[in-house]
Amino acid sequence: MNNKSIILLSGGLDSLVSLGVCKTEYNVELALTFDYGQKAANSEISTSKKICDYYNIKHKVIQLDWLKEITHTALVSDKELPEGIENPIESAKAVWVPNRNGLFLNIAGSFADSENYTHIILGANKEEGETFPDNTQEFADRVNAAFEYSTLNKPKVLVPLINYDKNDIVNLALKNNLPLELVKSCYNGGEKHCGVCESCTRLKNALKNNGDTHYIKILF
Ligand SMILES: [Zn+2]
Repeated sequence: MNNKSIILLSGGLDSLVSLGVCKTEYNVELALTFDYGQKAANSEISTSKKICDYYNIKHKVIQLDWLKEITHTALVSDKELPEGIENPIESAKAVWVPNRNGLFLNIAGSFADSENYTHIILGANKEEGETFPDNTQEFADRVNAAFEYSTLNKPKVLVPLINYDKNDIVNLALKNNLPLELVKSCYNGGEKHCGVCESCTRLKNALKNNGDTHYIKILF
């Protein structure tokens, strides 16, 4: 069977780079972006749309109003978003969305089962895997095992960045000339990157560590 894939796209660094490195080999044809009331929802949707236009793939936005109602953390509420990267465990709790990746992958699994997609690509990475258990290879393996039972076509979850930290991911993007100018990695969802939230801090540091000045100027 020829590859035909779905990407879970938020418009952030990890999903953009996952798409960039898998686009050709895995024939990515569809991107799903989820709106669960996160502060950055509108910006994630418009950023993802631009990325889909760039790569010429279909884009679908999935509304999850009920998830907004049952999520009480800073990503969707008025609570302060974590700044800096000093307290990864606290930050992880502050931005936790109940069963987010499990849910997203299962929704993508329905699309895959219905329209014969062979792979679902998730931008999980090594750093996040240390604090978020649903950002690990083990988790992907277990979802794959469940798809053996819950779908007819048995799509596979791919986590191409699972052994990479932010520095490696930025390095991969620079090496492959991926369109980093399109990326939007801020939790706050403003016009520009805020430059101080945890996600911005990680991106900025990784660009600096790779000796980049070009994208730092464009993005921050
Ligand atoms: Zn930010």
